[in-house]
Amino acid sequence: MSASRIDVAGVSVSPDHYIDGRRVASDDTFACVSPIDQRHLGDISSGAQAHVDAAVTSASLAFPAWAALGAEGRLPFLRRFAEAIGRRADAFATLESHDAGVLRSRMAHGVVPRAMQNIAWFAEHALSLQDRTIDTPQARHWVRHDPAGVVAVITPWNSPLLLATWKIGPALAAGNTVVLKAPEWAPLTSSLLADCAQEAGLPPGVFNLLQGAGALTGAALVSDARLARISFTGSVATAKWIAKTAAENLVPCSLELGGKSAFIVLADADLDAAAATAALMYRNAGQVCLAGTRLLVHADIAPAFIEKLRQIVERLVVGDPRDATTEVGPIIHMRQLERVQGFVERAVAGGARVLWGGARHPYGEQYFAPTLLTDLHQQDEIVQQEVFGPVLTLQTFASDDEVVDMANGTDYGLGGVCYGEEAHAMAIAQRVRTGFIWINSFGIRDLAAPFGGIKRSGIGREGGDWSFEFFCDVKDVVVPRQPFKASFSHR
Ligand code: NAD
Repeated sequence: MSASRIDVAGVSVSPDHYIDGRRVASDDTFACVSPIDQRHLGDISSGAQAHVDAAVTSASLAFPAWAALGAEGRLPFLRRFAEAIGRRADAFATLESHDAGVLRSRMAHGVVPRAMQNIAWFAEHALSLQDRTIDTPQARHWVRHDPAGVVAVITPWNSPLLLATWKIGPALAAGNTVVLKAPEWAPLTSSLLADCAQEAGLPPGVFNLLQGAGALTGAALVSDARLARISFTGSVATAKWIAKTAAENLVPCSLELGGKSAFIVLADADLDAAAATAALMYRNAGQVCLAGTRLLVHADIAPAFIEKLRQIVERLVVGDPRDATTEVGPIIHMRQLERVQGFVERAVAGGARVLWGGARHPYGEQYFAPTLLTDLHQQDEIVQQEVFGPVLTLQTFASDDEVVDMANGTDYGLGGVCYGEEAHAMAIAQRVRTGFIWINSFGIRDLAAPFGGIKRSGIGREGGDWSFEFFCDVKDVVVPRQPFKASFSHR
């Protein structure tokens, strides 16, 4: 049985589930370990079938009243939810730097403000979903976005707070109730989110949290036939299993998966700007789905580009994510570190050349040095598979056609970056098969814009109206213009 609260660097957080508006402990627990120094942070409740049943039951019972509130009625609850997150900004930063190794500075300046927006912005945006009409000579179609029901949200460890709120915000704003399954390698900020929901006065059952392993708690959750939607972010392998399981009950899934995005540097690019942005791909120790990890650089400018990037990378501060000056933190788990190392060792054995890095970083046991590999072939494993670590590959090209083929030459299609003269970069961007691509920039994310991948990078789009299309049942209420006369010959 887990303790009632655990203390992580002065922040009190519950290790338990949050079901029907109260904390529920499990007999079984799993260890939460910090990637910074492998320190044991606490024992976390592990959700069994009974906890999943209770959470989905509570969410089902809470659904009618929450849905009936309408977007306006839900707005004050969700504003309070966002404010409660803001009040705990420091605590969120402490917890996620400890359990996921995310930079404290990034939490404070990027993630927490964004998490607040994820809740508040969608709550406001939901107001615009009401009363769309389509007028034809025959009828007025009153097109409604009705809440769908109970939504299961399943998130990965690399940015737990950001990714959870990105789904919970629109799901709740649309009038659904939520069961969140937190990532077992980084469970703490999801738990603090439950404190925020409680403080905001969300009615019991509107937001529920389950802790536990994917194969146990997650699998039980997605198998529940009472779900109306499953919103998943994670790996391709898990997504395939979830999609098959959801198909048994015909539950619609949104799947945000991995990436192997191209970072294209054309011959007419601003090389200083391109190199500065390319160095950002080492952010979060490369554990970022949308990172442009495949550098595709025009052969004529490749030596100059590599030199500029080398100078930036040499100055990157690898270290403790709690320090304000740190730029690259640890790898989440020893298993992930070994996975990253395995990718690099196999690439080198296959003929790849290490331009820098290529091994663990001396800062600590769970750190990997920012790495660049070259002398690669398109079909090499390291070019084709997502590494999810601070490892970039570099290939050169000689023509636009060649770089487009290289960019499109993997099974993934999440993001992309293209540096070059703007019209040239735009022409290339149109030919790259991907969910989104940044021109002479990286990471600009507006909540109103669509986000998601193609091919093995996922199914569906999130953001703005796209989130609501997924989280709502669209209903057409048809009112005829003339009195309707029933007739078998009526067409
Ligand atoms: P993962 O698939 O192993 O786990 C993700 C979540 O799914 C975890 O909460 C896990 O417990 C749960 N899970 C695992 N097996 C399950 C099952 N059988 N049923 C239900 N739930 C199950 O992924 P990960 O290693 O935690 O995350 C890394 C992956 O996430 C990378 O591939 C990365 O690219 C991807 N990712 C994608 C995006 C995006 O928006 N496209 C964002 C971040 C991360």
